[in-house]
Amino acid sequence: MRPVSILITSIGELVTNAPADGDRQRGDGQQGAGPFASVADAAVVIEAGRIAWTGPAARAPAADEVIDAAGRAVLPGFVDSHAHLVFAGERGGEFAARMAGLPYQAGGIRATVAATRAATDDQLRANLRKLAAEMVSQGTTTFECKSGYGLTVRDEARSVALAAEFTPEVTYLGAHVVPAEYEHDPGGYVDLVRGPMLAACAPRARWVDVFCERGAFGRDEAAAVLAAGTAAGLQPRVHANQLGPGPGVRLAVESGAASADHCTHLDGADIDALASSATVATLLPGVEFSTRQPYPDARRLLGAGVTVAIATDCNPGSCFTSSMPLCIALAVREMRMTTQEAVWAATAGGARALRRADVGHLGVGARADLIMLDAPSHAYLAYRPGVPLIAAVWQAGGLAAT
Ligand SMILES: [Zn+2]
Repeated sequence: MRPVSILITSIGELVTNAPADGDRQRGDGQQGAGPFASVADAAVVIEAGRIAWTGPAARAPAADEVIDAAGRAVLPGFVDSHAHLVFAGERGGEFAARMAGLPYQAGGIRATVAATRAATDDQLRANLRKLAAEMVSQGTTTFECKSGYGLTVRDEARSVALAAEFTPEVTYLGAHVVPAEYEHDPGGYVDLVRGPMLAACAPRARWVDVFCERGAFGRDEAAAVLAAGTAAGLQPRVHANQLGPGPGVRLAVESGAASADHCTHLDGADIDALASSATVATLLPGVEFSTRQPYPDARRLLGAGVTVAIATDCNPGSCFTSSMPLCIALAVREMRMTTQEAVWAATAGGARALRRADVGHLGVGARADLIMLDAPSHAYLAYRPGVPLIAAVWQAGGLAAT
């Protein structure tokens, strides 16, 4: 039986990020996203969970179902390439204290580790389900999810397994922080992370990540974890240069990491390294917002030709937002990205950071992950900050939220 086709027409602005616009009939969707691109007065046809056609509404083909966008904007679903959703407890008190003047410290993670270890699988799953639903309702159609609040073989393995119930983009982050019981033997903890813990987590993970930062893991320790993860079939990504200058970004590039995340404190050599590599700089402006720290220099990165992604870093400590629209607004207002750059970074950029060619754009053949805004253009995501503008969300062609 022929699959049902859906035509969304009368779209005021259709953001495609497709390599070339127009009413192309064929394509394999494997090229990935191109630069920011949009079509006015447009239509899109979805068939069998994929984008089958995009172009001017006046030239749209017939379809089984027709949805009238009434001039509203349609965009690729957001790709949130950095989130920590497997945890228990909350740290609202820590946030309030920080806003009252206390500095953020990486050790605050330990409070969440204790709560996560004490939680049941069902409690962790329920929290994860709630946050995943929160993301979809705000237009996120692909998200990455890290472990890293278990920090024992058992708790990391179950964190990775729980994440895998919700997304294929699962990251093993045993090297998040040295847990209290290894405080006097950090080398022993690194051996655990790259040994038995990795072996228990690798079968259900795609990525290996390290928090390479003063107070967490140094360059050599981080390199050892990434090498072991790579040998186990995982692909590297790195938490780098968040709290201060350091070796994280260059380690990410040298390791062939898909992404160096945070990139708040960079020197010229870091930027040169990123610009001459395939490693994406993933900026997490919600963190700077929630920790009241200076934002990364997005303009310098973009000017150097670095591929930039935006993600939430949703986590209970340094940034407890799941909202990509908020991060877009912050990127525009605080990091001086244009609305086009910010939307590209939150869609196609996130896809690059996850090495996904099938999402982040609406080229023919791409997965039919789309959002309709209750607004005529993508610019409203920054122009109307804090306003719920996501009118509908489709995932693989199915209506996921309205
Ligand atoms: Zn993070």
